[in-house]
Amino acid sequence: WYRPMDTHRIALIPGDGIGNEVTPAACAVLDAIGRRHGVRFEYDTYDWSCARYLTEGAMMPADGLERIRHHDAIFLGAVGDPAVADHVSLWGLLIPIRRGFRQYVNLRPIRLFPGVQGPLKSGTVDLVVVRENVEGEYSEIGGRMNRGFPEEMAVQEAVFTRTGVTRVVDYAFTLARTRRGHVTSATKSNGIVHTLPFWDELVAECAPAYPDVTWDQEHIDALCAKLVLDPGRFDVIVASNLFGDILSDLAAAVAGSIGIAPAANLNPEREFPSMFEPVHGSAPDIAGLGAANPVGAIWTAAIMLNHLGYVEAAADVEDAIATIFAKTSLRTRDLGGTAMTDEFVKAFLDVLG
Ligand code: ATP
Ligand code: MG
Repeated sequence: WYRPMDTHRIALIPGDGIGNEVTPAACAVLDAIGRRHGVRFEYDTYDWSCARYLTEGAMMPADGLERIRHHDAIFLGAVGDPAVADHVSLWGLLIPIRRGFRQYVNLRPIRLFPGVQGPLKSGTVDLVVVRENVEGEYSEIGGRMNRGFPEEMAVQEAVFTRTGVTRVVDYAFTLARTRRGHVTSATKSNGIVHTLPFWDELVAECAPAYPDVTWDQEHIDALCAKLVLDPGRFDVIVASNLFGDILSDLAAAVAGSIGIAPAANLNPEREFPSMFEPVHGSAPDIAGLGAANPVGAIWTAAIMLNHLGYVEAAADVEDAIATIFAKTSLRTRDLGGTAMTDEFVKAFLDVLG
């Protein structure tokens, strides 16, 4: 007797530092949950990283995107190295993948799990930041002028397009339907007088298509304050590239540790593979010690499961995270404990059977 299994091919990019420790942890959990739900994962591993850049002069081969475009998903551990400038890993790997595969949604779920001590005295945190991932403030348009003169100046243009804003706002409203049904739009249209009023107009144009979803907008400064003072009021926050970047780090800190936070770079139309990566970096200060918190990577794997259509399996993994934090005292050093990566993986395998 056997049960036919769905098989998915995953492009694995463990990357640098603790990326090499949390990626196997996530795969062990994926394999366990896969056995339970009749799903099999086949991994193709790529050594694309800052380490590769230091020996071969490139983060990935010139035909890198071609090699992974037919995979069902991309899982990335972390890239970064103290000897390599951030823009090298960004422009040599992350941005080509995000833009090449039209991953215009950056999804950052944030939860304060019971049993985890966050920096706030009280309050629930269970929200998702939907960040626009390919346009906005992070454009290459602009330049430096009059270098060395008193008139020296720098100009950087933000680019917001109707198509680019509408599709990410639609994604946020659709996501809110599967959650508590509320969207908050991050803006600053009182100070940024061209792009953000346009953003506001497009949000207002999209909203009526989702009569079951309530929405409001907040200026980014007030939104940051409310995220700290009363995070429980937020469900889905939709934000431009820059605002979303800032908000997701702030919200992750409010939820206790960057070691827990997951992220996904999504191509919602599924024309290309989406990329799943924990929020944390390569953490060179603890790399090689076996002490990395694997929860960010494991939760990221759950989001990948969800994207591949295994909604129940994804919920099982997220529940397992909650169970481990609630029922055990296992905490890695980022959460003030001494637990090792392996102990966490073992706890997951125990909970998931
Ligand atoms: P990179 O240049 O790759 O972004 P970084 O050091 O700038 O690396 P992170 O890797 O995110 O940024 O690390 C920030 C801090 O958080 C470090 O002290 C690191 O040890 C800690 N940290 C990050 N992720 C984890 C994790 N998964 N488990 C434990 N500690 C972590
Ligand atoms: Mg960093």
